[in-house]
Amino acid sequence: MRRSSVFIVVILLLLTGVVLSGRAVAQPDEWLGAAPEPAAPVLSLPTYYRVAAGDTLCGIARRYGVGAALIAQANGLSLSDPIYAGQYLVVPAGGLTYRVVPGDTLWDIACRYGVPVEELLRANGLDAGAPLLVGTELLVPVSLDAPETQDRGDREPLSWPVLGPVSSPFGLRDGRPHEGIDIAALAGTPVRAAAGGRVVYAGPAGTYGLLVILQHDDVRTTYYAHCNEVYVVPGQTVAAGEVIATVGNTGRSTGPHLHFEVRVNGTPYDPVPFLRS
Ligand SMILES: [Zn+2]
Repeated sequence: MRRSSVFIVVILLLLTGVVLSGRAVAQPDEWLGAAPEPAAPVLSLPTYYRVAAGDTLCGIARRYGVGAALIAQANGLSLSDPIYAGQYLVVPAGGLTYRVVPGDTLWDIACRYGVPVEELLRANGLDAGAPLLVGTELLVPVSLDAPETQDRGDREPLSWPVLGPVSSPFGLRDGRPHEGIDIAALAGTPVRAAAGGRVVYAGPAGTYGLLVILQHDDVRTTYYAHCNEVYVVPGQTVAAGEVIATVGNTGRSTGPHLHFEVRVNGTPYDPVPFLRS
């Protein structure tokens, strides 16, 4: 009995050693960044956030690089109001996301975007001496007031899939996120691809009703929901402005309209800043 327990302890020690040495060799890989991504900054556009236990407005503000006062204002709260787990908050636009590439320093990045290093540190909860890991997404707290920075610069702007009034905006609706905009139009109105791309979904999708999803580039997808008819199939390539469907009232919908979403890396953002005016 004694000998077998010594044996078990030895095995456990060996296993611990393997795990620890595995950790030790994993770190240089993280530092080098096996596959560095291009340093394209992603605009922080309005989105929403589901509050987790222990969250504070200040913590959320830091995570998104948006002032806590702005978040409070966007949600009709005061800074001293409590927030609770499961609550949805609208996070207004407030900065850029920048992915660290080899050779970057905080000072380079601060200089490039014209923000003080201290603000960069504060926005990301970093200490001045902390190492900057390749691949880390940093929030760059810059103002997005200038309209020319709203269209993501390097990316093709989207065009309206249907012309009509926005009957329900992006944001919270009865405390639940509305992940796109509703564009009111008559049933049967042609729905056009907001940009060129590839059809990744076309068919029924629960509350979305008849849905088309287009992939436009490495990060952006657009959703067209509640369609009456769908004219495209998955895998098909479509041109900007091509008719892909018609407006309908399928799925959870109280009248004919197009529910239109823009997602960047799967996260829904307010489509309006992406759209050509
Ligand atoms: Zn909708």
